[in-house]
Amino acid sequence: MRQIFLLVVFVLAARWLVKTMRAVQTGTAPRGGAAPGAARGPANGGARQARPEPREPRQLAEPMVRCAVCGVHAPKSESIAFGGQYFCGVDHARRHAAPAGGREGR
Ligand SMILES: [Zn+2]
Repeated sequence: MRQIFLLVVFVLAARWLVKTMRAVQTGTAPRGGAAPGAARGPANGGARQARPEPREPRQLAEPMVRCAVCGVHAPKSESIAFGGQYFCGVDHARRHAAPAGGREGR
């Protein structure tokens, strides 16, 4: 029981640490709150710096990837990554790597 409590405390502390470090990195320390949401956020994507945005939403604990063969969505850790694409299983990865018949559209 005590270990669970310690784990929760640790997770909260880690979250707080990441938040603080991000605020320090961007230079917008939460102080006073003069401009709420004005400094951040690209208005029209004009000033796009070298900061690639992830396609998947960050709310998910684990990003879901789509199988390139059957289109099934699977957790990234359980999927097979091959050739820059993800597959739901080894069978589909093999099928994509060595197509029997060579009917590759794209
Ligand atoms: Zn599949």
